[in-house]
Amino acid sequence: MDLMSKIISLCKRRGFVFPSSEIYGGLESSYDFGPLGVEMKNNIKKTWWSEMTKFQNPPAGGIVGLDAAILMNPEIWQASGHLAAGFADELVECKNCHKRFKADEIKQKVCPDCQGKLTKPRKFNLMMKTFIGSVETEASTTYLRAETCQGIYVNFLNVLNSMRLKIPFGVAQIGKAFRNEITPKDFIYRTREFEQMEFQWFCYPKEAKKYFDYWKKERIKWYLNLGIKKQNLRIKEVPAVERAHYARQQIDIEYKFPFGWQEIEGVHNRGDFDLSNHAKYSGKDLRYYDEDPPAGGKEKYFPYIIETSAGADRSLFAFLCDAYQEVKGGRTKTTKATKEIEILLKLDKRITPIKVAVLPLVRNKLKLVKKAKEVYRLLKAHFVCQYDELGSIGRRYRRQDEVGTLWCITIDFDTLKDDTVTVRDRDTMKQEREKTVDLIEVLNKNLK
Ligand code: ATP
Repeated sequence: MDLMSKIISLCKRRGFVFPSSEIYGGLESSYDFGPLGVEMKNNIKKTWWSEMTKFQNPPAGGIVGLDAAILMNPEIWQASGHLAAGFADELVECKNCHKRFKADEIKQKVCPDCQGKLTKPRKFNLMMKTFIGSVETEASTTYLRAETCQGIYVNFLNVLNSMRLKIPFGVAQIGKAFRNEITPKDFIYRTREFEQMEFQWFCYPKEAKKYFDYWKKERIKWYLNLGIKKQNLRIKEVPAVERAHYARQQIDIEYKFPFGWQEIEGVHNRGDFDLSNHAKYSGKDLRYYDEDPPAGGKEKYFPYIIETSAGADRSLFAFLCDAYQEVKGGRTKTTKATKEIEILLKLDKRITPIKVAVLPLVRNKLKLVKKAKEVYRLLKAHFVCQYDELGSIGRRYRRQDEVGTLWCITIDFDTLKDDTVTVRDRDTMKQEREKTVDLIEVLNKNLK
């Protein structure tokens, strides 16, 4: 099995990601995050949120959050350029089977499926249309947002005034976005419904370059700090012809997936494209009156926007791929068959889904089980915790390593005498004896 198939299989088997609507035959490119997947994704989002709203110390300016609606006035998508040709893929259609293909992905002149003749390339818009209210007319048409950031731009004045902010400042937002992707593929890499973690930095136009460089460095650091290996991350400077329609400068942060180098985040200098267009379409003056611009004097201008746009699903996938290891011959002492391969998911402690597992040494001793359940109840209010009594202790350690659980707590016969337990560390495999009453403090210390 190749690495991609192994990861997809692990995701399904251990409750990270399930194909959506599976009992109905599924729905192309839709996935559900299972019990471990939702914990991990929440951890990624929480880490990103803390990073952007709490820990960042840009040279100047404050940072606040926002949670805008998915459904917005459709004029927004006119102003943003998404309904124009800018947000469209060039497609060719087979005249015989009517299947569509991306023009730049297709090499031959006939349909790859049925050899039928192909049409000339046409633009195909990626916005997902929907209808508001009970009448399906053009008047009630709107779109599911294709990117979360537009909600930030149209709230520029609300945020500025309610929070009494000054340029520069940043707004962070996490939420779902939808695109009618023509070729969704590669598991959760490219789907039609996905989650973005977007950050918009509003700044003085002449300082845009400085802040572009600043945020670019910060975003790369985020992935490295969370354990992505340096050799699996690279920066692509995007040339003008390939840039998004709004971008003056753009880099893609790329990860080396099993299927090749692919974007996980984009950093864009969007200039005044968004605010000036929204001003034009809405008729509202979205310029900022700067009483103290860096150039001196007083100025009224459209702030430039530096955007960092990451995918929660794509980064989760990258973290999984990066953490996945196979240990030939087994890593636990209790493994008998040395030809066995053990899986270790070495996820960073902040994003790994389960922090602690509680395991009674054996399950046919009532007193051990009772004590283990007591310890589980004590810990589960503080950490994402799993109780497991099925199978040999070695097998249970392996099950936990496979999903990246940080610590396994074993309740054995000594526990019943002195109320101590063993705490096995996922990475060092060292087992330390700790008093049950100290567990919360010890684990919290380890987590820091
Ligand atoms: P791509 O070229 O891969 O389609 P993009 O350049 O259109 O991506 P952006 O519009 O810059 O992507 O979106 C920012 C981020 O949102 C991407 O880096 C990615 O992490 C995420 N993203 C975009 N489209 C999808 C999708 N279809 N499925 C999952 N994540 C996506």
